[in-house]
Amino acid sequence: MKITTFSQFQELMQNTCISRREIVEAILREERPDEKYLMCLLNARTSLEDIDKEDDKSILRSDDGKKIYLELEYELNELNKDIYYLQQNEKTFYRYLNGFYEFFEEEVQRLTKELSHLNFNNFITDRDGTVNNYCGRYSTSIQSAYNGVFLSRFAYNCAKHSVILTSAPLEGFGLMDINVMPQEAFNYAGSKGRELMNTEGKLFRYPINPDQQQKLDELNNVLGELVKGPRYEIFSRIGSGLQFKFGQTTIARQDIHNSIPEQETNEFKQVIEEKVSEIDPDQQIFRIEDTGKDLEIILTVQSDNKGLKDFDKGDGVLFMNDELGLGLNKGPNLICGDTESDVRMLEAAMKKNSNTYAVFVTTDEELKKQVSDVCSNSFFVETPDVLVCVLNNLAKTK
Ligand SMILES: [Mg+2]
Repeated sequence: MKITTFSQFQELMQNTCISRREIVEAILREERPDEKYLMCLLNARTSLEDIDKEDDKSILRSDDGKKIYLELEYELNELNKDIYYLQQNEKTFYRYLNGFYEFFEEEVQRLTKELSHLNFNNFITDRDGTVNNYCGRYSTSIQSAYNGVFLSRFAYNCAKHSVILTSAPLEGFGLMDINVMPQEAFNYAGSKGRELMNTEGKLFRYPINPDQQQKLDELNNVLGELVKGPRYEIFSRIGSGLQFKFGQTTIARQDIHNSIPEQETNEFKQVIEEKVSEIDPDQQIFRIEDTGKDLEIILTVQSDNKGLKDFDKGDGVLFMNDELGLGLNKGPNLICGDTESDVRMLEAAMKKNSNTYAVFVTTDEELKKQVSDVCSNSFFVETPDVLVCVLNNLAKTK
């Protein structure tokens, strides 16, 4: 099928999600996945390759006919890897991954050795850039099948409790819509841990004050209207787009390819700041965090001693510890991340028990130092593929 619109592209990727779930289930049962699922992935790859291009960028149309330029690197790479994985054995697949990265084999061997003596009480990890390769576009960042198999194996064999904690929402196009692992393998935490789904599918929500919720609803309406107009519509299409999370709203101001000119992205940031301060002139309700790519508008919470602060992933970890009975104070705990916001998870875990290990996917020396200062058992790797292969190795020796 010839893909010409963004909606068709999204639907195609959703279909690969359904097939990949079946593939993961079968492999975990040590059965051969039905050929029709491999066919689905092969067809999806052909459809992506056939999309019209201009200067190496794929061109799709939005629902109202506007041209959107996209890089489909993540979607194609992960399809290629999955297809290879299904057609070869695991050892050959590792060799294939080795071809993508500089220090893949050395890093996998080293970290496998470092962690092989441990059985974790808790495994808490960020998703994007940590255990999942980074995709500039949330809506099509479907987890690949090999990735789902490796992570599930580790969760089943090496950790009592496993949690994926992300800043994206849980449902309503969120984490659960791009996840291909069995429900019971993981606890899933969205909106930085403000909303949780346990291994039995039960939901937990961090309480939000009704007045704050009302203001957030008001803001969401304003932002929803703003990006409907032609002037700012592009910001709902690129990168993270507009996401209404639990206790937080994210709006993209740039994507990883820097598609938006400097002046426009700065102007848009100013517009958003004005809209927020119209609703919250005294800055009591919201904090705006600018990641450079996204503006995150976060409801404040009362902190122990510092007055109002924004809800971070450390607060999410503590909420999960209470609600899901993780027993972080027991250890050993394994915390994985790739950005500074993930260091909050590590700090929260360390406060409960210093028998905690950290693996961060980064080459940023500043971040490495921050992580090592918080936790002496810290390890660093260059890519999510190293980390998931290590976890797979650990699971297979148990
Ligand atoms: Mg991340």
